[in-house]
Order: sequence, then structure tokens, then C-alpha cells
Amino acid sequence: MEILDGKKISNQIKEEIAVEVAQMKERGEKVPHLAAVLVGNDGASLTYVGSKVRSCKKIGFESTLIHLPEDTSEEALLQQVHDLNNNPDIDGYIVQLPLPKHIDEEKVLMAVDADKDVDGFHPTNFGKMALEMETFISATPFGIMELLRRYNVDISGKHAVVIGRSHIVGRPISILMSQKGKPGNATVTLTHSRTTDIKSLTQQADIVVSALGVPNFLKADMVKEGAVIIDVGITRVSDESREKGYYITGDVDYENVSKKASYITPVPGGVGPMTIAMLLKNTLLARERHKSKRA
Ligand code: NAP
Repeated sequence: MEILDGKKISNQIKEEIAVEVAQMKERGEKVPHLAAVLVGNDGASLTYVGSKVRSCKKIGFESTLIHLPEDTSEEALLQQVHDLNNNPDIDGYIVQLPLPKHIDEEKVLMAVDADKDVDGFHPTNFGKMALEMETFISATPFGIMELLRRYNVDISGKHAVVIGRSHIVGRPISILMSQKGKPGNATVTLTHSRTTDIKSLTQQADIVVSALGVPNFLKADMVKEGAVIIDVGITRVSDESREKGYYITGDVDYENVSKKASYITPVPGGVGPMTIAMLLKNTLLARERHKSKRA
């Protein structure tokens, strides 16, 4: 069994980007600038956004955190989005999800300029991704594909079972794995909460991507010997014995599933860090695109 070490690979990617940023600086060019909009004080969102901003600093990007109060109106947030769209200094930005209940998430995501949508959530970018056109691929599925690519995991002709059909993970990864290319050409089954007998499907899978957010969902008797296991799940489980009062776990019974797997991603240290690295990669891409647009 080999661990797909997302932490190690994400650090490699960040180092590669840092080299490019240093070269930009040497040439006297503007460096990429990522902004993040956070509404409210959700603990997990604060952690994610903090980590994204810190990563920007480390690799030499400029970053701006726009932290708005929980009771920010939809109109005020849309105005913020409009301002970011029109700010030539910002190459890309993200609106951290989930948004408070009184704000229509779809309306906000639709208002983001597709050319600055480094999360790849805008329908224009999702559509281009589905059509195999160059675009911003959303960071988590992009990170999974990059991890498979860098470990040379061959998925061509293999059966991949994806658990979860969200717009940000399950559905896009099912599209990407089935596309032509390397990695690619997998035969994909997309499952969800209405799928009957998921176990019979995962037992046939060469690759399982678990993205539902239920701790210990994928157990050893659900996977075959030698399967590749990608655990996307991130759940905070309360634990007063820990300093933070919780621990993070994935969807996979790691201890037992890892004994059967050929490759497996740990949680933490697997898909999570790759997501941040690919967001940075998309921001670099956004900078390059803006530069060539103005040239
Ligand atoms: P989501 O929007 O809540 O979607 C969950 C999906 O799982 C849905 O399609 C749902 O089916 C399906 N599902 C739920 N319970 C199920 C069950 N018992 N059996 C089969 N399918 C079931 O979640 P998400 O945003 O995709 O995130 C999924 C997990 O990944 C979460 O733990 C999240 O924190 C984590 N995540 C991690 C990263 C990362 O960087 N590592 C990034 C994003 C998300 P229905 O569609 O039928 O409801």
C-alpha cells in the first residue's frame, strides 16, 4: 500500500509556483493577487480561509481577506462581488461557502466574473470543464486529478465509483475521471443517497472516491483488494480530550481499508492540502490570462 501524500505533493506544487512568482518579481511584473470573501464566523470556514491566505503569503502572492459580519445583506455581498469584479488589481477571488442562510448562494456565485472565478464554480467554468476546454477546474477535483497524475496512478479503462454528487466534488470528479487524457478514460459510476446497494458497486471498483462527509462510511468489506481509495470527506468530530475540542476525520475507515488498498489518501494530509495548492495554481493561471488579455 502506498499513501497518496497530498501534503508532500501540495508542498511541491507550492514550491513550483513560488519559483514562478519569484521570476515574475525579477522581471518587475505584478504578482498574482487572490482575494477571499468570508461572511460570518463559521469555525471550519475561518480555518480554511486562514490557511489559504497563509499559503498565498508563503509563495509570494498578494492576498486580501474581506471578512464580513454574519448579518451582511445579500445586496451588500453582491456589491462586494461587483467591486472585486471591477478591481483590476485582483486576479482571482473566492467567496467561501457555506454562506449564511439568508443569502442566495447561487445568486452570489453567478455574479462572480468567470475570469476571476478561481474556485471554478461559475457555470461558464463548470461548462467549459465538462466540454474539456481550458478553464478553472474547481480546486478539489483538480487536486485529486493532480495527485493521481503525480503518483502515476493509471485509471484508464478502470472502474471508478464516486460517492456523492455535489457540484463542487462528486459530479466534477466523475466528469474529469471519465474524460480522455492522462489521468482519465475511467468508466465512472456516480452514486448518491438514493443509490440502492452502494456496497455492491464499491466492491467492484478499482477506484473509490468518497465525498459524502460521513465518518467511517467506507469500510473494508466494501472495497476489493488493491483498490485505489480517495477520501475527500472532512468532518469535525467533537472530542473534549483534544486541545481544539475536536478532531478531523474522513469518510473512510482508514485503519482497515488501508490494509486492502493499493493507494490511499489520508485525512488529514490527503485531498485537503491539494485543494489549496490547486486554488493557488488557478490564481497563477488567472494572472497569466489577465496579463495576456491586456497585452
Ligand atoms: P454535499 O454537498 O453535502 O454532498 C454530499 C453528497 O453525498 C450528496 O450527493 C449526497 O447525496 C451524498 N450522500 C450523503 N449521504 C449519503 C449516503 N449515506 N450514501 C450515499 N451518498 C450519500 O458535500 P460536499 O460539499 O460534496 O462535501 C463532501 C465531503 O467532502 C464533506 O465532508 C466536505 O467537508 C468534504 N470536502 C472536502 C474538501 C477537501 O478539500 N478535502 C473539499 C470539499 C468538500 P444526495 O445528493 O442524494 O443528497
